[in-house]
Amino acid sequence: MSVDNEPYVQVHALHAGRLTLPERFFVHPASESARRTVPSLSFLIQHVNSVNKTTRIVFDLGLRHPSTNYPIPIQRHLETRHPMATEPNVVQSLAVGELSTDDIDYVVYSHVHWDHIGEPKAFDKSTFVVGPGTSALLKDSSSLRGGHSFFEPDLLPVSRTIELPPTTGATEQESSTGKSAQNGVTPDFSQSWVPHGFLPRTIDIFQDGSVLIVDAPGHLPGHINILARTGPGKYTYLAGDACHDRRIMRWEREIGEWHDESGHICCIHADKKQAEKTIALISRLESEGVEVILAHDVEWEEKSENQARFFGTS
Ligand SMILES: [Zn+2]
Repeated sequence: MSVDNEPYVQVHALHAGRLTLPERFFVHPASESARRTVPSLSFLIQHVNSVNKTTRIVFDLGLRHPSTNYPIPIQRHLETRHPMATEPNVVQSLAVGELSTDDIDYVVYSHVHWDHIGEPKAFDKSTFVVGPGTSALLKDSSSLRGGHSFFEPDLLPVSRTIELPPTTGATEQESSTGKSAQNGVTPDFSQSWVPHGFLPRTIDIFQDGSVLIVDAPGHLPGHINILARTGPGKYTYLAGDACHDRRIMRWEREIGEWHDESGHICCIHADKKQAEKTIALISRLESEGVEVILAHDVEWEEKSENQARFFGTS
């Protein structure tokens, strides 16, 4: 997948809060009491085009600060996620590198769970980009179970939101329809999904191969990832909540399941089978040398060499 002298982007991590996951809801086997405090990472992607125009994308906004600004059902749910920290939040983390929300052209949400949406009102000049089906999910999530599946119908600013096209039938198409991207001048989110290598559905938003949005189904309707070229032959894959725990990718654990009060089998992924397929694709990318970072990737965050990967630290 690597070709030298092709455009690439800068990718920086942004601290955007922390939360504590009861392990049994995420991995199997796990003890009843095991808990892990993990980050909810955001990322800044900076693309410079052929006429030196910079486009800045933030992928996910982490936790909302203060948490009392969440709707009451979410505030109730997050009682189960302590210890928790909403600072530094994504806005403070951008400021470390001397950027403000006004500098962010696009906010791309991997999905709209509470620990990824931050405070969209703070990004009042940005255009929001979400995966297919997200608007419908925000209005009606009655098919989903669990306290984490409460959504705000008015989360997204209607006039500044792009919902990516449906993925149905997208794998049949062989070539991109991109009309307005013009080889990296401006991003084009209206293109059809097309295969990229063994990834069945991607959108090359700048039409220069530097930033691909990747359909990553299973966790929640509209769940998307980003594959970014960060240097000659170097790629970083931002996996959102496709996987919550690296032990699953190493086959040391399986995806967790549990029974709710009425005896239903629950899973943190809306479609567990589909989530397993997505994880298999991501594992294959990793085995081919792509750096994979999960939204709650405490192992990545703890590595000393990754400290300089946070925006403003180097
Ligand atoms: Zn999630």
